[in-house]
Amino acid sequence: MQYKALYRKYRPLDFDDLIGQDAIVKTLKNSLKNNKIGHAYLFTGTRGTGKTSVAKMFANIVNCEDLIDGLPCGKCKICNTTKKDDNPDIIEIDAASNNGVDEIREIKNKATFVPVISKYKVYIIDEVHMLSIGAFNALLKTLEEPPSHAIFILATTEPHKIPITIISRCQRFDFKKISIVDIKKRLKYIADKEKISIEDDCINELAILSDGSLRDAIGLLDQVNSFSEGNITLDNLYELTGNVGIPLICNIIEHLLNNNINKLIEIYDNLYEKGANFQKIAETMLEVLTNVLISKNAKKYFNKKDIYYKEEIEKLEKISNREILHNIIIDINVLLDNMSNSSNSSLLFELFLLKTIDLGNKTDKKDDNNNIVSEIDEKKMVVDLKNKDNENIKNDNYLLKHALVNNTIALACKEYKNEIKELFSNIDKYLLDSKTKNIATLLMDCNINAASDDHLLLTYKYESLVIEHDKNINKIEKILNELTKRKYKVVAISEDKWKEVRPKFVELKKNNSKIELMDEKKDDTISCVVEELNDIDKTINEFGLEIIEVEE
Ligand SMILES: [Zn+2]
Repeated sequence: MQYKALYRKYRPLDFDDLIGQDAIVKTLKNSLKNNKIGHAYLFTGTRGTGKTSVAKMFANIVNCEDLIDGLPCGKCKICNTTKKDDNPDIIEIDAASNNGVDEIREIKNKATFVPVISKYKVYIIDEVHMLSIGAFNALLKTLEEPPSHAIFILATTEPHKIPITIISRCQRFDFKKISIVDIKKRLKYIADKEKISIEDDCINELAILSDGSLRDAIGLLDQVNSFSEGNITLDNLYELTGNVGIPLICNIIEHLLNNNINKLIEIYDNLYEKGANFQKIAETMLEVLTNVLISKNAKKYFNKKDIYYKEEIEKLEKISNREILHNIIIDINVLLDNMSNSSNSSLLFELFLLKTIDLGNKTDKKDDNNNIVSEIDEKKMVVDLKNKDNENIKNDNYLLKHALVNNTIALACKEYKNEIKELFSNIDKYLLDSKTKNIATLLMDCNINAASDDHLLLTYKYESLVIEHDKNINKIEKILNELTKRKYKVVAISEDKWKEVRPKFVELKKNNSKIELMDEKKDDTISCVVEELNDIDKTINEFGLEIIEVEE
């Protein structure tokens, strides 16, 4: 007998078999029950979430001759031909290879003919975002005046690439990623049916690796099954995928935090010999470290998160501090960037380990050591000075920063500060989005020291966090504008700097002087080119300035 891939064999045949898309199934079932059939549907969602399966089911069900409560009878002529993938009226088109105007015109012409055996002709156009502009226009014409017997189901992983004119003609359904719990359940079911012996840990790992795609999960199960000849273990899985498990990833991070160079080199050599995929390892490390940071910064949110390795995270949390965590996360981001442009991931990874250990030794780990700041500064300076242009940029930024600090304090008002403090408590919602979670964790580390209606002064405990803040200033302002519904100019300095500057403002406040506003243009030529931010008092004295509100 010919071998049939597991994901084909276990492709769901009706709605009740479908996993993880309950809302979509319910809506479609209702429309079938009430005979409210549309002529154009758009199914969006990442790969392996069931778009094509649902499209096929829908094509069958809508044509079944004896529908029972929104479900197909399974016995009629239509149901039988569909089971064999044999219904001439269900036409699947891969837009990736048929993306031209001519192909779509041909569809348009053929769609006008009545169906051969069914009530409806159903066109399933997969990867529809691949169509050319001309093809989209041809499709639009068809969707504007569809033959009464035709239904178009467009499926895509990238809905943002589809013209709005097309989208507006379709009923849209967004397929979510399948949850780890649901994927595990399905894998267990298939393993039982197929009499595959597989460890529970391994099912777990498969579910995680597949990142919400049930098809990928089943495909991996299939692969690792033939690879391991009957008895699947975690080792088989890692060997096949080049990945390593969370325990080993946590081990690497622990040794990094403890500056245990010998252990790290031992692990690295071992992984290298096994042909590990260092890019995947770096990606998993990034994910674990972000979770450690979240656990440190936002315990309530962390407790709600669906992470199966919480114990390991909490262990790492105890031996790390935020500064080191931020630094390693930044370095891994750089590492991943470099890896994508290089064929030598293993060497880059080894260099990363050595560099991080070096940094760890210098900073002598553990919390609240002021020496950390100056030593890390020194390191960053070396990196910055590599590029001469950076120096000029730094100088411009410095002047801008000086002006922003001055102006925030000049305009500051207690009410604004209290208001924004309250809004800030909602920042943890940005942890949910992978695009904003790094910024959110950074902002959770800052203090709000002064605010006006359009200026905001933040402080961070460590200078390295200030540098990180400055690097991400555009993203930060975007998030804060969204959060506060105001347009803020945000400036950040270290707590140490703030301690130096603050008393001078307080002094002025006591004397009832007024603080003059400074020009905030980057190319501003402030007459006295200041070297240190605490020179701010010089400016203040020159103008005889006053503070409206300064508060810790
Ligand atoms: Zn039927």
